[in-house]
Amino acid sequence: MDTSRDHDNTPVLIVGGSLVGLSAAVFLAWHRVPTVLVERHTGSSVHPRAIGYTTRTLELFRSVGIEVPRSVERGGPPRRARVESLAGAWHEEYPWTPHAQGGSPDDFSPVHGTAIAQDRLESLLRARAIELGADLRLGTKLIAFDQDDDGVTAVLNRGDDGSQYRMRADYLVAADGGSSTIRNTLGIGRGGRGLLSVQRSILFRAPLQDYLRHGVVQFEIDHADLKAFLTPYSDGRWVLMLGDDTERTEDEQRAVVRQAVGRSNVPIDLITTGRWELAAAIADQFSYGRAFLAGDAAHQLPPNRGGYGANTGIEDAHNLSWKLAAVLGGTSRPELLDTYDSERRPIAWLRHDQLFARADYKAFLDAPESAVPIIDDTAMELGQLYRSAALPETGADLPPRAARPVDRPTGTRAPHLWLDTTAHRSLLDEFGRGWVLVSDDHAWELAAARATAELGVSAAFTHIDAATAPDAAAQFRIAYGLGPAARR
Ligand SMILES: Cc1cc2nc3c(=O)[nH]c(=O)nc-3n(C[C@H](O)[C@H](O)[C@H](O)COP(=O)(O)OP(=O)(O)OC[C@H]3O[C@@H](n4cnc5c(N)ncnc54)[C@H](O)[C@@H]3O)c2cc1C
Repeated sequence: MDTSRDHDNTPVLIVGGSLVGLSAAVFLAWHRVPTVLVERHTGSSVHPRAIGYTTRTLELFRSVGIEVPRSVERGGPPRRARVESLAGAWHEEYPWTPHAQGGSPDDFSPVHGTAIAQDRLESLLRARAIELGADLRLGTKLIAFDQDDDGVTAVLNRGDDGSQYRMRADYLVAADGGSSTIRNTLGIGRGGRGLLSVQRSILFRAPLQDYLRHGVVQFEIDHADLKAFLTPYSDGRWVLMLGDDTERTEDEQRAVVRQAVGRSNVPIDLITTGRWELAAAIADQFSYGRAFLAGDAAHQLPPNRGGYGANTGIEDAHNLSWKLAAVLGGTSRPELLDTYDSERRPIAWLRHDQLFARADYKAFLDAPESAVPIIDDTAMELGQLYRSAALPETGADLPPRAARPVDRPTGTRAPHLWLDTTAHRSLLDEFGRGWVLVSDDHAWELAAARATAELGVSAAFTHIDAATAPDAAAQFRIAYGLGPAARR
Protein backbone atom coordinates (compact mmCIF):
# COMPACT_ATOMS: atom_id res chain seq x y z
CA MET A 1 0.00 0.00 0.00
CA ASP A 2 1.38 3.38 -1.04
CA THR A 3 0.41 5.34 2.08
CA SER A 4 1.95 8.56 0.72
CA ARG A 5 -1.13 8.90 -1.54
CA ASP A 6 -3.65 7.99 1.15
CA HIS A 7 -4.58 11.63 1.65
CA ASP A 8 -6.31 11.58 -1.77
CA ASN A 9 -9.91 12.61 -1.45
CA THR A 10 -12.62 13.76 -3.79
CA PRO A 11 -16.31 14.67 -3.61
CA VAL A 12 -17.16 12.05 -6.25
CA LEU A 13 -15.31 8.91 -7.30
CA ILE A 14 -16.54 7.27 -10.51
CA VAL A 15 -15.55 3.68 -11.17
CA GLY A 16 -15.64 2.75 -14.87
CA GLY A 17 -14.47 4.89 -17.77
CA SER A 18 -16.65 3.64 -20.59
CA LEU A 19 -19.63 5.55 -22.02
CA VAL A 20 -21.56 6.00 -18.79
CA GLY A 21 -18.67 6.72 -16.39
CA LEU A 22 -17.17 9.21 -18.84
CA SER A 23 -20.55 10.89 -19.33
CA ALA A 24 -20.92 11.19 -15.55
CA ALA A 25 -17.43 12.75 -15.36
CA VAL A 26 -18.39 15.30 -18.03
CA PHE A 27 -21.73 16.18 -16.40
CA LEU A 28 -20.20 16.50 -12.91
CA ALA A 29 -17.24 18.52 -14.14
CA TRP A 30 -19.69 20.75 -16.02
CA HIS A 31 -21.31 21.46 -12.64
CA ARG A 32 -17.80 22.20 -11.32
CA VAL A 33 -17.84 19.19 -8.99
CA PRO A 34 -14.25 17.94 -8.53
CA THR A 35 -14.41 14.35 -9.76
CA VAL A 36 -12.00 11.44 -10.02
CA LEU A 37 -12.70 8.64 -12.49
CA VAL A 38 -10.84 5.33 -12.41
CA GLU A 39 -10.84 2.89 -15.31
CA ARG A 40 -8.86 -0.34 -15.21
CA HIS A 41 -8.04 -0.18 -18.95
CA THR A 42 -5.77 2.45 -20.45
CA GLY A 43 -8.15 3.34 -23.31
CA SER A 44 -11.21 2.23 -25.23
CA SER A 45 -11.76 -1.36 -26.18
CA VAL A 46 -10.60 -2.11 -29.75
CA HIS A 47 -13.99 -3.73 -30.20
CA PRO A 48 -16.72 -1.07 -30.03
CA ARG A 49 -20.18 -2.17 -28.99
CA ALA A 50 -22.61 0.75 -29.16
CA ILE A 51 -23.12 2.71 -32.36
CA GLY A 52 -26.57 4.36 -32.07
CA TYR A 53 -27.13 7.46 -29.89
CA THR A 54 -30.55 8.94 -29.41
CA THR A 55 -31.92 12.43 -29.72
CA ARG A 56 -32.08 12.78 -25.94
CA THR A 57 -28.45 11.71 -25.51
CA LEU A 58 -27.42 14.28 -28.11
CA GLU A 59 -29.45 16.96 -26.27
CA LEU A 60 -27.62 16.12 -23.05
CA PHE A 61 -24.24 16.25 -24.78
CA ARG A 62 -25.13 19.56 -26.46
CA SER A 63 -25.99 21.00 -23.03
CA VAL A 64 -22.39 20.44 -21.89
CA GLY A 65 -20.70 21.57 -25.07
CA ILE A 66 -20.10 18.25 -26.81
CA GLU A 67 -20.71 18.33 -30.54
CA VAL A 68 -21.05 14.81 -31.92
CA PRO A 69 -20.50 14.71 -35.69
CA ARG A 70 -23.72 14.12 -37.58
CA SER A 71 -23.82 10.74 -39.30
CA VAL A 72 -25.13 10.14 -42.79
CA GLU A 73 -27.91 7.99 -41.33
CA ARG A 74 -31.02 9.86 -40.26
CA GLY A 75 -31.74 9.88 -36.55
CA GLY A 76 -34.29 7.48 -35.10
CA PRO A 77 -34.19 3.71 -34.97
CA PRO A 78 -32.00 2.21 -37.70
CA ARG A 79 -33.65 0.31 -40.55
CA ARG A 80 -33.32 -3.47 -40.50
CA ALA A 81 -33.95 -6.07 -43.22
CA ARG A 82 -33.91 -9.85 -43.39
CA VAL A 83 -31.55 -10.89 -46.21
CA GLU A 84 -30.02 -14.06 -47.59
CA SER A 85 -26.70 -12.20 -47.67
CA LEU A 86 -25.62 -8.63 -48.49
CA ALA A 87 -25.15 -9.49 -52.17
CA GLY A 88 -27.93 -12.11 -52.26
CA ALA A 89 -31.71 -11.80 -52.07
CA TRP A 90 -33.16 -9.15 -49.75
CA HIS A 91 -36.41 -10.16 -48.10
CA GLU A 92 -38.67 -7.95 -45.99
CA GLU A 93 -37.69 -4.91 -44.00
CA TYR A 94 -39.38 -4.67 -40.64
CA PRO A 95 -39.71 -1.66 -38.39
CA TRP A 96 -38.65 -1.39 -34.77
CA THR A 97 -42.01 0.21 -33.93
CA PRO A 98 -44.87 -1.03 -36.12
CA HIS A 99 -47.39 1.62 -37.20
CA ALA A 100 -45.33 4.39 -35.60
CA GLN A 101 -47.37 7.59 -35.61
CA GLY A 102 -45.65 9.98 -33.27
CA GLY A 103 -43.13 11.24 -35.82
CA SER A 104 -39.42 11.11 -35.07
CA PRO A 105 -37.97 12.36 -31.77
CA ASP A 106 -35.87 14.65 -33.98
CA ASP A 107 -39.05 16.60 -34.84
CA PHE A 108 -39.22 17.76 -31.21
CA SER A 109 -35.58 18.62 -30.68
CA PRO A 110 -32.82 20.96 -31.80
CA VAL A 111 -30.55 17.94 -32.41
CA HIS A 112 -30.58 14.64 -34.30
CA GLY A 113 -29.81 11.16 -33.05
CA THR A 114 -26.59 9.88 -34.61
CA ALA A 115 -24.43 6.86 -35.35
CA ILE A 116 -20.86 6.93 -34.08
CA ALA A 117 -18.73 4.00 -32.92
CA GLN A 118 -18.32 3.70 -29.15
CA ASP A 119 -14.53 4.16 -29.19
CA ARG A 120 -14.84 7.41 -31.17
CA LEU A 121 -17.49 8.78 -28.86
CA GLU A 122 -15.47 7.78 -25.79
CA SER A 123 -12.51 9.77 -27.04
CA LEU A 124 -14.74 12.88 -27.42
CA LEU A 125 -16.05 12.35 -23.88
CA ARG A 126 -12.55 11.91 -22.43
CA ALA A 127 -11.36 15.11 -24.09
CA ARG A 128 -14.34 17.12 -22.80
CA ALA A 129 -14.10 15.66 -19.27
CA ILE A 130 -10.42 16.65 -19.07
CA GLU A 131 -11.13 20.08 -20.53
CA LEU A 132 -13.75 20.66 -17.81
CA GLY A 133 -11.31 19.61 -15.10
CA ALA A 134 -12.18 15.97 -14.31
CA ASP A 135 -9.30 13.82 -13.08
CA LEU A 136 -9.29 10.68 -15.27
CA ARG A 137 -7.07 7.90 -13.96
CA LEU A 138 -6.87 5.32 -16.73
CA GLY A 139 -5.15 2.03 -15.94
CA THR A 140 -6.40 2.22 -12.34
CA LYS A 141 -8.67 -0.41 -10.82
CA LEU A 142 -10.94 -0.29 -7.80
CA ILE A 143 -10.15 -3.40 -5.80
CA ALA A 144 -12.14 -2.79 -2.60
CA PHE A 145 -14.33 -0.20 -0.92
CA ASP A 146 -16.19 0.45 2.25
CA GLN A 147 -18.63 3.13 3.32
CA ASP A 148 -19.59 4.82 6.56
CA ASP A 149 -21.90 7.70 7.48
CA ASP A 150 -19.50 10.33 6.18
CA GLY A 151 -18.11 8.85 3.00
CA VAL A 152 -16.60 6.01 1.03
CA THR A 153 -13.07 4.63 1.29
CA ALA A 154 -11.79 3.02 -1.90
CA VAL A 155 -8.66 0.93 -2.42
CA LEU A 156 -7.21 1.58 -5.88
CA ASN A 157 -4.58 -0.32 -7.82
CA ARG A 158 -2.33 1.32 -10.43
CA GLY A 159 -1.82 -0.96 -13.41
CA ASP A 160 1.58 0.52 -14.40
CA ASP A 161 3.53 -0.19 -11.22
CA GLY A 162 1.08 -2.38 -9.26
CA SER A 163 1.00 0.04 -6.33
CA GLN A 164 -2.11 0.52 -4.23
CA TYR A 165 -3.49 3.54 -2.45
CA ARG A 166 -6.63 4.62 -0.63
CA MET A 167 -9.01 7.35 -1.67
CA ARG A 168 -11.77 8.93 0.34
CA ALA A 169 -14.90 10.15 -1.49
CA ASP A 170 -18.18 11.69 -0.41
CA TYR A 171 -20.02 9.66 -3.05
CA LEU A 172 -19.24 6.67 -5.26
CA VAL A 173 -20.68 6.24 -8.77
CA ALA A 174 -20.58 2.63 -9.95
CA ALA A 175 -20.36 2.72 -13.74
CA ASP A 176 -18.48 -0.56 -13.75
CA GLY A 177 -20.68 -2.44 -16.21
CA GLY A 178 -23.10 -5.36 -16.24
CA SER A 179 -21.02 -7.58 -13.96
CA SER A 180 -20.47 -4.67 -11.52
CA THR A 181 -18.38 -5.77 -8.57
CA ILE A 182 -19.66 -2.73 -6.66
CA ARG A 183 -23.26 -3.88 -7.10
CA ASN A 184 -22.30 -7.41 -6.10
CA THR A 185 -20.33 -6.22 -3.06
CA LEU A 186 -23.35 -4.18 -1.94
CA GLY A 187 -25.46 -7.35 -2.24
CA ILE A 188 -27.93 -5.77 -4.66
CA GLY A 189 -29.80 -8.42 -6.64
CA ARG A 190 -31.31 -8.12 -10.11
CA GLY A 191 -34.65 -8.93 -11.75
CA GLY A 192 -35.67 -9.21 -15.39
CA ARG A 193 -35.39 -11.81 -18.13
CA GLY A 194 -31.77 -12.63 -17.31
CA LEU A 195 -29.29 -14.16 -19.74
CA LEU A 196 -30.72 -14.34 -23.27
CA SER A 197 -27.83 -15.60 -25.37
CA VAL A 198 -24.08 -15.72 -25.78
CA GLN A 199 -22.93 -14.10 -29.03
CA ARG A 200 -19.60 -14.24 -30.82
CA SER A 201 -18.64 -11.30 -32.98
CA ILE A 202 -16.12 -10.69 -35.74
CA LEU A 203 -15.03 -7.08 -36.22
CA PHE A 204 -13.59 -6.43 -39.67
CA ARG A 205 -12.97 -3.79 -42.28
CA ALA A 206 -14.23 -4.28 -45.82
CA PRO A 207 -15.32 -2.06 -48.74
CA LEU A 208 -19.05 -2.72 -48.43
CA GLN A 209 -20.37 0.86 -48.32
CA ASP A 210 -22.30 0.35 -51.53
CA TYR A 211 -24.74 -2.00 -49.76
CA LEU A 212 -25.81 0.88 -47.50
CA ARG A 213 -27.10 3.08 -50.31
CA HIS A 214 -30.76 2.10 -49.69
CA GLY A 215 -30.64 3.29 -46.08
CA VAL A 216 -30.85 -0.15 -44.45
CA VAL A 217 -27.99 -0.53 -41.96
CA GLN A 218 -28.88 -3.70 -40.05
CA PHE A 219 -28.94 -7.05 -41.84
CA GLU A 220 -30.43 -10.18 -40.35
CA ILE A 221 -28.68 -12.88 -42.34
CA ASP A 222 -31.19 -15.66 -42.92
CA HIS A 223 -29.54 -18.34 -45.03
CA ALA A 224 -30.04 -22.10 -44.84
CA ASP A 225 -26.43 -22.46 -43.57
CA LEU A 226 -26.07 -19.23 -41.64
CA LYS A 227 -28.14 -17.22 -39.17
CA ALA A 228 -26.30 -14.08 -38.14
CA PHE A 229 -26.51 -10.31 -37.80
CA LEU A 230 -24.39 -7.87 -39.78
CA THR A 231 -24.08 -4.11 -39.25
CA PRO A 232 -21.56 -1.33 -40.01
CA TYR A 233 -19.87 1.04 -37.55
CA SER A 234 -20.25 3.96 -39.98
CA ASP A 235 -16.49 4.20 -40.59
CA GLY A 236 -15.59 1.21 -42.78
CA ARG A 237 -15.69 -1.22 -39.86
CA TRP A 238 -18.41 -3.87 -39.72
CA VAL A 239 -19.42 -6.44 -37.14
CA LEU A 240 -20.84 -9.89 -37.75
CA MET A 241 -22.65 -11.33 -34.73
CA LEU A 242 -23.06 -15.11 -34.45
CA GLY A 243 -25.23 -16.88 -31.92
CA ASP A 244 -23.34 -20.20 -31.76
CA ASP A 245 -20.66 -19.37 -29.14
CA THR A 246 -17.98 -21.07 -31.28
CA GLU A 247 -14.26 -20.20 -31.40
CA ARG A 248 -13.15 -19.72 -35.03
CA THR A 249 -9.71 -19.62 -36.66
CA GLU A 250 -8.92 -16.58 -38.84
CA ASP A 251 -9.62 -18.61 -42.00
CA GLU A 252 -12.97 -19.66 -40.57
CA GLN A 253 -13.75 -16.05 -39.63
CA ARG A 254 -13.05 -14.87 -43.20
CA ALA A 255 -15.15 -17.70 -44.60
CA VAL A 256 -18.19 -16.88 -42.46
CA VAL A 257 -17.88 -13.15 -43.19
CA ARG A 258 -17.75 -13.91 -46.94
CA GLN A 259 -20.81 -16.10 -46.55
CA ALA A 260 -22.70 -13.25 -44.87
CA VAL A 261 -21.58 -10.84 -47.59
CA GLY A 262 -22.44 -13.40 -50.28
CA ARG A 263 -19.23 -12.78 -52.26
CA SER A 264 -15.93 -14.62 -52.30
CA ASN A 265 -13.90 -11.78 -53.82
CA VAL A 266 -14.19 -9.15 -51.06
CA PRO A 267 -10.94 -8.18 -49.26
CA ILE A 268 -11.55 -8.67 -45.54
CA ASP A 269 -9.29 -7.15 -42.94
CA LEU A 270 -9.96 -8.90 -39.62
CA ILE A 271 -9.62 -6.56 -36.63
CA THR A 272 -10.65 -8.57 -33.58
CA THR A 273 -13.34 -10.85 -32.17
CA GLY A 274 -15.65 -10.60 -29.18
CA ARG A 275 -17.79 -12.76 -26.92
CA TRP A 276 -20.88 -11.12 -25.40
CA GLU A 277 -23.46 -12.25 -22.90
CA LEU A 278 -26.68 -10.54 -23.93
CA ALA A 279 -28.85 -10.14 -20.87
CA ALA A 280 -31.78 -8.17 -19.54
CA ALA A 281 -31.28 -7.53 -15.83
CA ILE A 282 -32.38 -4.60 -13.66
CA ALA A 283 -30.86 -3.95 -10.23
CA ASP A 284 -33.33 -4.13 -7.33
CA GLN A 285 -32.15 -0.73 -6.15
CA PHE A 286 -30.02 1.89 -7.87
CA SER A 287 -28.36 3.19 -4.73
CA TYR A 288 -27.14 2.02 -1.37
CA GLY A 289 -25.95 4.60 1.13
CA ARG A 290 -23.42 6.75 -0.67
CA ALA A 291 -23.00 4.44 -3.66
CA PHE A 292 -25.04 4.91 -6.86
CA LEU A 293 -25.30 2.45 -9.75
CA ALA A 294 -25.42 3.88 -13.28
CA GLY A 295 -25.51 2.38 -16.76
CA ASP A 296 -25.15 -1.37 -17.21
CA ALA A 297 -24.31 -1.74 -13.51
CA ALA A 298 -27.89 -0.63 -12.83
CA HIS A 299 -29.64 -2.09 -15.87
CA GLN A 300 -28.26 -4.40 -18.49
CA LEU A 301 -30.46 -4.18 -21.58
CA PRO A 302 -29.58 -6.19 -24.70
CA PRO A 303 -28.70 -4.23 -27.85
CA ASN A 304 -31.76 -2.98 -29.65
CA ARG A 305 -32.80 -0.47 -32.25
CA GLY A 306 -34.17 1.94 -29.65
CA GLY A 307 -30.62 2.32 -28.29
CA TYR A 308 -31.78 1.47 -24.77
CA GLY A 309 -28.39 0.26 -23.49
CA ALA A 310 -25.84 3.05 -23.37
CA ASN A 311 -28.40 5.80 -23.92
CA THR A 312 -30.36 4.85 -20.80
CA GLY A 313 -27.09 4.85 -18.86
CA ILE A 314 -26.08 8.29 -20.15
CA GLU A 315 -29.47 9.62 -18.99
CA ASP A 316 -28.82 8.05 -15.55
CA ALA A 317 -25.49 9.85 -15.40
CA HIS A 318 -27.15 13.15 -16.23
CA ASN A 319 -29.92 12.69 -13.64
CA LEU A 320 -27.48 11.70 -10.90
CA SER A 321 -24.89 14.37 -11.67
CA TRP A 322 -27.02 17.46 -11.19
CA LYS A 323 -28.39 16.01 -7.96
CA LEU A 324 -24.92 15.25 -6.58
CA ALA A 325 -23.86 18.76 -7.60
CA ALA A 326 -26.86 20.30 -5.80
CA VAL A 327 -26.28 18.29 -2.61
CA LEU A 328 -22.52 18.81 -2.59
CA GLY A 329 -23.04 22.51 -3.32
CA GLY A 330 -25.37 22.80 -0.33
CA THR A 331 -28.42 23.93 -2.30
CA SER A 332 -30.37 20.68 -1.80
CA ARG A 333 -30.82 18.26 1.07
CA PRO A 334 -29.30 14.77 0.67
CA GLU A 335 -32.86 13.37 0.36
CA LEU A 336 -32.78 14.65 -3.24
CA LEU A 337 -30.46 11.75 -3.99
CA ASP A 338 -33.24 9.28 -3.09
CA THR A 339 -35.12 10.46 -6.17
CA TYR A 340 -32.39 9.02 -8.42
CA ASP A 341 -33.71 5.51 -7.80
CA SER A 342 -37.39 6.50 -7.88
CA GLU A 343 -36.96 8.37 -11.16
CA ARG A 344 -34.55 6.15 -13.07
CA ARG A 345 -35.46 2.57 -12.07
CA PRO A 346 -39.00 2.70 -13.56
CA ILE A 347 -37.48 3.96 -16.83
CA ALA A 348 -35.14 0.96 -16.92
CA TRP A 349 -38.13 -1.35 -16.41
CA LEU A 350 -40.18 0.50 -19.00
CA ARG A 351 -37.40 -0.04 -21.52
CA HIS A 352 -36.88 -3.64 -20.47
CA ASP A 353 -40.58 -4.38 -21.09
CA GLN A 354 -40.64 -2.50 -24.39
CA LEU A 355 -37.75 -4.58 -25.70
CA PHE A 356 -39.74 -7.77 -25.35
CA ALA A 357 -42.89 -6.23 -26.79
CA ARG A 358 -41.13 -5.82 -30.18
CA ALA A 359 -40.62 -8.25 -33.06
CA ASP A 360 -36.80 -8.03 -32.74
CA TYR A 361 -36.96 -9.98 -29.45
CA LYS A 362 -40.04 -12.10 -30.16
CA ALA A 363 -37.94 -15.28 -29.93
CA PHE A 364 -37.65 -14.64 -26.19
CA LEU A 365 -41.38 -14.33 -25.53
CA ASP A 366 -43.15 -17.00 -23.47
CA ALA A 367 -46.43 -16.36 -25.31
CA PRO A 368 -46.99 -15.78 -29.06
CA GLU A 369 -47.76 -12.10 -28.41
CA SER A 370 -46.53 -9.72 -25.76
CA ALA A 371 -49.23 -8.35 -23.47
CA VAL A 372 -47.26 -5.11 -23.20
CA PRO A 373 -48.60 -2.40 -25.54
CA ILE A 374 -45.94 -0.92 -27.81
CA ILE A 375 -45.13 2.68 -27.00
CA ASP A 376 -44.26 5.12 -29.70
CA ASP A 377 -40.54 6.00 -30.10
CA THR A 378 -41.04 9.69 -29.46
CA ALA A 379 -42.94 9.04 -26.23
CA MET A 380 -40.26 6.56 -25.13
CA GLU A 381 -37.49 8.96 -25.92
CA LEU A 382 -38.78 12.37 -24.91
CA GLY A 383 -41.94 11.61 -22.93
CA GLN A 384 -40.31 9.80 -20.00
CA LEU A 385 -42.28 10.75 -16.93
CA TYR A 386 -40.46 10.94 -13.62
CA ARG A 387 -42.50 10.23 -10.51
CA SER A 388 -40.72 11.19 -7.34
CA ALA A 389 -40.94 13.18 -4.14
CA ALA A 390 -39.06 16.01 -5.88
CA LEU A 391 -41.85 16.63 -8.36
CA PRO A 392 -45.36 17.92 -7.69
CA GLU A 393 -48.35 16.16 -9.25
CA THR A 394 -46.47 13.03 -10.23
CA GLY A 395 -47.99 10.27 -8.11
CA ALA A 396 -47.08 6.62 -8.46
CA ASP A 397 -50.38 6.03 -10.26
CA LEU A 398 -49.11 7.86 -13.36
CA PRO A 399 -47.59 5.85 -16.22
CA PRO A 400 -43.80 6.13 -16.67
CA ARG A 401 -44.22 8.04 -19.91
CA ALA A 402 -46.50 10.59 -21.52
CA ALA A 403 -48.05 9.82 -24.89
CA ARG A 404 -45.98 12.50 -26.59
CA PRO A 405 -43.37 14.93 -25.29
CA VAL A 406 -45.88 17.77 -25.32
CA ASP A 407 -48.67 15.94 -23.51
CA ARG A 408 -47.70 16.32 -19.90
CA PRO A 409 -44.98 18.84 -19.16
CA THR A 410 -44.77 18.17 -15.39
CA GLY A 411 -42.27 15.42 -14.75
CA THR A 412 -41.12 15.13 -18.36
CA ARG A 413 -38.19 16.73 -20.15
CA ALA A 414 -38.73 20.45 -20.73
CA PRO A 415 -39.97 20.80 -24.33
CA HIS A 416 -37.79 22.33 -27.02
CA LEU A 417 -38.73 25.64 -28.62
CA TRP A 418 -36.62 27.65 -31.05
CA LEU A 419 -35.58 30.98 -29.54
CA ASP A 420 -33.54 31.98 -32.56
CA THR A 421 -33.58 29.79 -35.62
CA THR A 422 -30.78 31.72 -37.36
CA ALA A 423 -28.41 31.25 -34.43
CA HIS A 424 -29.83 27.72 -33.89
CA ARG A 425 -30.65 28.61 -30.28
CA SER A 426 -33.19 26.44 -28.46
CA LEU A 427 -34.95 27.05 -25.16
CA LEU A 428 -33.15 23.86 -24.04
CA ASP A 429 -29.88 25.82 -24.32
CA GLU A 430 -31.03 27.95 -21.36
CA PHE A 431 -31.05 24.89 -19.10
CA GLY A 432 -28.25 22.81 -17.68
CA ARG A 433 -26.46 24.45 -14.78
CA GLY A 434 -29.09 25.77 -12.38
CA TRP A 435 -32.74 26.62 -11.86
CA VAL A 436 -34.38 28.62 -14.63
CA LEU A 437 -37.78 30.28 -14.48
CA VAL A 438 -39.29 30.65 -17.95
CA SER A 439 -42.29 32.82 -18.64
CA ASP A 440 -43.88 35.03 -21.26
CA ASP A 441 -44.84 37.41 -18.44
CA HIS A 442 -42.03 39.73 -17.35
CA ALA A 443 -43.42 40.00 -13.83
CA TRP A 444 -42.00 36.57 -13.05
CA GLU A 445 -38.49 37.99 -13.31
CA LEU A 446 -39.07 39.64 -9.96
CA ALA A 447 -40.28 36.34 -8.48
CA ALA A 448 -37.07 34.64 -9.67
CA ALA A 449 -34.98 37.40 -8.09
CA ARG A 450 -36.94 37.09 -4.83
CA ALA A 451 -36.49 33.31 -4.74
CA THR A 452 -32.76 33.78 -5.27
CA ALA A 453 -32.56 36.33 -2.46
CA GLU A 454 -34.78 34.48 0.02
CA LEU A 455 -33.75 30.86 -0.58
CA GLY A 456 -30.13 31.33 -1.56
CA VAL A 457 -30.76 29.16 -4.61
CA SER A 458 -30.00 31.03 -7.76
CA ALA A 459 -32.81 31.08 -10.32
CA ALA A 460 -32.21 32.67 -13.71
CA PHE A 461 -35.07 34.14 -15.71
CA THR A 462 -35.78 33.58 -19.40
CA HIS A 463 -38.35 35.80 -20.99
CA ILE A 464 -40.29 34.54 -23.99
CA ASP A 465 -41.81 37.38 -25.96
CA ALA A 466 -42.36 38.69 -29.45
CA ALA A 467 -38.69 39.66 -29.65
CA THR A 468 -37.88 35.94 -29.38
CA ALA A 469 -40.06 35.07 -32.38
CA PRO A 470 -43.42 36.46 -33.51
CA ASP A 471 -45.52 33.58 -32.11
CA ALA A 472 -43.03 32.41 -29.44
CA ALA A 473 -45.24 33.21 -26.45
CA ALA A 474 -48.19 31.25 -27.85
CA GLN A 475 -45.98 28.31 -28.76
CA PHE A 476 -44.40 28.38 -25.33
CA ARG A 477 -47.80 28.25 -23.62
CA ILE A 478 -48.87 25.28 -25.75
CA ALA A 479 -45.60 23.38 -25.32
CA TYR A 480 -45.48 23.92 -21.56
CA GLY A 481 -49.19 23.38 -20.95
CA LEU A 482 -49.81 26.88 -19.65
CA GLY A 483 -53.21 28.50 -19.98
CA PRO A 484 -53.94 32.10 -19.07
CA ALA A 485 -54.85 30.90 -15.54
CA ALA A 486 -51.33 29.64 -15.06
CA ARG A 487 -49.98 33.14 -15.53
CA ARG A 488 -49.20 35.10 -12.45
C1 LIG B 1 -22.84 -5.92 -29.36
C2 LIG B 1 -23.43 -4.78 -28.58
C3 LIG B 1 -23.94 -3.66 -29.26
C4 LIG B 1 -24.50 -2.59 -28.56
N1 LIG B 1 -25.00 -1.51 -29.23
C5 LIG B 1 -25.59 -0.48 -28.54
C6 LIG B 1 -26.10 0.69 -29.21
O1 LIG B 1 -26.02 0.81 -30.44
N2 LIG B 1 -26.66 1.68 -28.46
C7 LIG B 1 -26.73 1.59 -27.11
O2 LIG B 1 -27.26 2.50 -26.47
N3 LIG B 1 -26.21 0.53 -26.44
C8 LIG B 1 -25.65 -0.50 -27.12
N4 LIG B 1 -25.11 -1.57 -26.45
C9 LIG B 1 -25.08 -1.55 -24.99
C10 LIG B 1 -23.91 -0.66 -24.53
O3 LIG B 1 -22.71 -1.11 -25.11
C11 LIG B 1 -23.81 -0.70 -23.03
O4 LIG B 1 -25.09 -0.39 -22.49
C12 LIG B 1 -22.81 0.35 -22.54
O5 LIG B 1 -21.52 0.08 -23.04
C13 LIG B 1 -22.79 0.37 -21.03
O6 LIG B 1 -21.86 1.31 -20.63
P1 LIG B 1 -21.33 1.32 -19.14
O7 LIG B 1 -20.36 2.46 -19.12
O8 LIG B 1 -22.46 1.31 -18.20
O9 LIG B 1 -20.61 -0.08 -18.94
P2 LIG B 1 -19.41 -0.75 -19.72
O10 LIG B 1 -19.35 -0.25 -21.13
O11 LIG B 1 -19.53 -2.20 -19.51
O12 LIG B 1 -18.13 -0.19 -18.99
C14 LIG B 1 -17.78 -0.53 -17.69
C15 LIG B 1 -16.35 -0.05 -17.49
O13 LIG B 1 -15.99 -0.24 -16.14
C16 LIG B 1 -14.65 -0.69 -16.09
N5 LIG B 1 -14.47 -1.36 -14.80
C17 LIG B 1 -15.14 -2.45 -14.34
N6 LIG B 1 -14.74 -2.77 -13.11
C18 LIG B 1 -13.78 -1.86 -12.77
C19 LIG B 1 -12.98 -1.67 -11.61
N7 LIG B 1 -13.08 -2.48 -10.53
N8 LIG B 1 -12.10 -0.65 -11.59
C20 LIG B 1 -11.97 0.19 -12.67
N9 LIG B 1 -12.70 0.04 -13.80
C21 LIG B 1 -13.61 -0.97 -13.84
C22 LIG B 1 -14.54 -1.61 -17.29
O14 LIG B 1 -13.19 -1.80 -17.68
C23 LIG B 1 -15.36 -0.86 -18.33
O15 LIG B 1 -14.59 0.03 -19.09
C24 LIG B 1 -24.55 -2.64 -27.15
C25 LIG B 1 -24.04 -3.77 -26.48
C26 LIG B 1 -23.48 -4.82 -27.18
C27 LIG B 1 -22.93 -5.99 -26.42
